[in-house]
Formats: sequence, structure tokens, C-alpha cells
Amino acid sequence: MYEPEWKTPTSKAEALAVLGEIGEDAVVVAGGTDIAPLISKRRIRPRVLVDLGRIEDLKFLSVGPANYGGSATIGALVTHGALARDKGVSETAHVLSAACRTVGAPQVRARGTIGGNVANASPAADGAVALVALGASAVVESDGDQRREVPLPEFFSGPGQTVLRPGELVTGITFAAPSSVARSAYRKAGQRNALAIAVVSVALVHEPEAGTVRIALGSVAPTPIRAMEAERLFESGWMDVSGRAELLGAVAAAAVRAASPIDDVRASAWYRTVLVEVLTRRALEEACF
Ligand SMILES: Cc1cc2nc3c(=O)[nH]c(=O)nc-3n(C[C@H](O)[C@H](O)[C@H](O)COP(=O)(O)OP(=O)(O)OC[C@H]3O[C@@H](n4cnc5c(N)ncnc54)[C@H](O)[C@@H]3O)c2cc1C
Repeated sequence: MYEPEWKTPTSKAEALAVLGEIGEDAVVVAGGTDIAPLISKRRIRPRVLVDLGRIEDLKFLSVGPANYGGSATIGALVTHGALARDKGVSETAHVLSAACRTVGAPQVRARGTIGGNVANASPAADGAVALVALGASAVVESDGDQRREVPLPEFFSGPGQTVLRPGELVTGITFAAPSSVARSAYRKAGQRNALAIAVVSVALVHEPEAGTVRIALGSVAPTPIRAMEAERLFESGWMDVSGRAELLGAVAAAAVRAASPIDDVRASAWYRTVLVEVLTRRALEEACF
């Protein structure tokens, strides 16, 4: 019978020490919503499970109006439910609370963490796509005071793959908080309204004073991606009020060019392409015009 060894550290320092000692035989469990099904279906058989659930110092949340224009941080163990409910997140990083509200069902949001959402590296991960639009980085730490901040587009190396090395833990997420006048939008299409993984998602953060926009796409490439050409097109044309209809079309078309969707059980590549166009337009209309 499969009986993994359980480790239950109660502080970040203890978790890093355990991970440093055990190395690649150790697998981290946060909320368990992604990893528990893999274990119960016998897809993976880790020798040691390191349960992060008792670590209070990874549950901090510092996102609110006080952070406008400064740096915002979220502990890896903050749940989707907490992010969806938090007034400060809603006011300062609306795109993130909007994305977290769409995750699974209340039970999944109560257990699933933002660190797990990022470390699981699904191209459809709602929190991760919103964080890419916020320009966020993963805070990665290991034993011996080793710490690095990895911008999320570089953190993901493929579906289910990251640049995390054995012994490393995502301890939090950090980003420059948008300004007080920033606007944002999260648009997601799934196969139904509740308990649906994204067929396509679009996250957008617009800074009207700087004239910038960040557009992130989910479920249309091996990892969550930025639509950089679309961003540049928007920035070069959005001040021209008379040309807005054309601009919307051109930016949405550029977002489609950034995508490389595939056919899978949830949708065809063709349908995903249509959705990128439509959802990008809607996100632009909601947050920019
Ligand atoms: C029914 C159901 C519906 C779902 N719907 C959605 C949805 O709509 N949108 C969505 O985005 N996701 C959805 N998910 C997936 C899942 O809930 C999320 O990805 C969640 O955020 C995972 O977090 P967790 O804490 O449960 O991670 P876990 O399952 O504990 O871990 C996931 C992976 O990340 C690693 N890991 C976890 N935390 C860390 C860390 N701090 N550092 C390093 N590695 C770490 C684990 O080792 C594991 O490989 C759904 C899952 C279920 C079961």
C-alpha cells in the first residue's frame, strides 16, 4: 500500500529546511485541490509530502489602496476565496479578485491557494493569468536565505512545468500595485458558468495616465502569455478618440496573433481563436473606453 511520509512544518523557515534536506523526493501540498486528485488517481507517488497548511507566515496579504503605485505582496497560501472577498484587492487589483471569483466552486476557492495556482502552471489557471496582466513575479525561496523574484512569464516553462528547482518554494507573489486610476477586466469563457476551467481567458490592466495596457491570455498557449503586439498597438493609438472602433479591432486581431491554441476536449483551436478576439474586445471596452 502507498503510504507517503507526511511533513507538517509550522513556519516558512521550517518548510524550507525540510525541502532543502529532502530535495527532489519531496512534493509540496498547499490546498491539495490540484495535487490530491493526481495522487488518488495514482498519477504521481511522491515519497514525502510537505503539507504547508499550518504555516501562518505564508498567509499574509498586503494589497490595498495604501499600495497604489508601490509594491503589493500576497503570501503563497492565500486562498482564491480570500482574494475574491478582500476589499483591498478588489479596489487595487480588481482583475485578480475578478479572476479568483471564477475559480471552481466555493469549496475549491476555500482551499485552493494562489501559490498552488501559480506553481501548478496550468495555461488555464485563472489567478495566474490575472497576475501576468498585473506584471507579477513569483517570490521563490530556499533554505539558507536564498531568494529570487521570477517574472511569471519566465516562471512557467510549459504546461505543468516551472523553473522551480528541488528545495525551492514559492513563498509569495509580488507586483507593482496599479495606480488609483487604473482600470482592469477579467473575461473568461468556459463550457458552463460554474465549476468550469477556462476555454479562453483574457486579463487586462489599463493605466490611463501612462497610456499603457497589459493584456494576458489564458488557455491559448502552453503557458499564460502576454499579447505584447496588441499592447503596443493600443498604446500607440488609444489617444485618437475618432479611431477607437478601428483600434479595438486592430488590438483584438493582434491578440489573436499572439495565441497558438490547440484542439482539445474542451474546445477546438478555431473556437478559441474566435473567443480571443471577442473577449479581448469586451475587456478593452470594459477597462479602456
Ligand atoms: C473541481 C475543481 C475545479 C477547479 N476549477 C478551477 C478553475 O476554475 N480555475 C483554476 O484556475 N483552477 C481550478 N482548479 C484547480 C485548483 O483549484 C487551483 O489551481 C488551485 O489554485 C491550486 O491550489 P492548491 O493550493 O490547491 O494547490 P495544490 O494542489 O496543493 O498544489 C498544486 C501544485 O503546486 C505545487 N505547489 C503548491 N503550492 C506551492 C508552493 N507554495 N510552492 C511550490 N509549489 C507549490 C504542488 O506541489 C502541486 O504540484 C480546480 C480544481 C478542482 C478540483
